[in-house]
Amino acid sequence: MALREIITVPNPLLKKVSKPVEQVDDELRVLMDDMLETMYAAPGIGLAAVQVGVPRRVIVMDLAREGEPPQPRYFVNPEITWRSDQLAVREEGCLSVPDIYDEVERPAQVGLRYMDYHGETVEEDAEGLLAVCIQHEMDHLEGVLFIDHLSRLNRDRAVAKVKKAAKDGAEKAA
Ligand SMILES: [Zn+2]
Repeated sequence: MALREIITVPNPLLKKVSKPVEQVDDELRVLMDDMLETMYAAPGIGLAAVQVGVPRRVIVMDLAREGEPPQPRYFVNPEITWRSDQLAVREEGCLSVPDIYDEVERPAQVGLRYMDYHGETVEEDAEGLLAVCIQHEMDHLEGVLFIDHLSRLNRDRAVAKVKKAAKDGAEKAA
């Protein structure tokens, strides 16, 4: 396994629509293993392949609480099969928009269909944190970031803050 670099705004790759995966094979499992390791190291609870510069429809996630054993999850070519009318608001953050947190409103429950680590098709209903996280990660596959759900002003502020932090970091490192 290897750590990959997580890209951040305003990298234009984050706006790209990711391509479907044709088959779950060992090459894809290497990508998923690397993504999981990169996500744990960040640390984060979800990561889409495009965030490590690979625009393919792959997501990894682990929603285990502190002290619980790891619960790695893999979603290949995920689809949302239904959305609840009921909405839920939750504060979100993103490894590609570091240190920015804001509230986003999304359907509270969704139905999911995807392939797992072994290429098996899985259907399940999601609610709570899983519903939020999978919708956030699936937005990445369409080139959409959680800050795109915010007002224009808050979005521009967030991007400016991340750019400034990256610049300050580069100066410190230089
Ligand atoms: Zn994200």
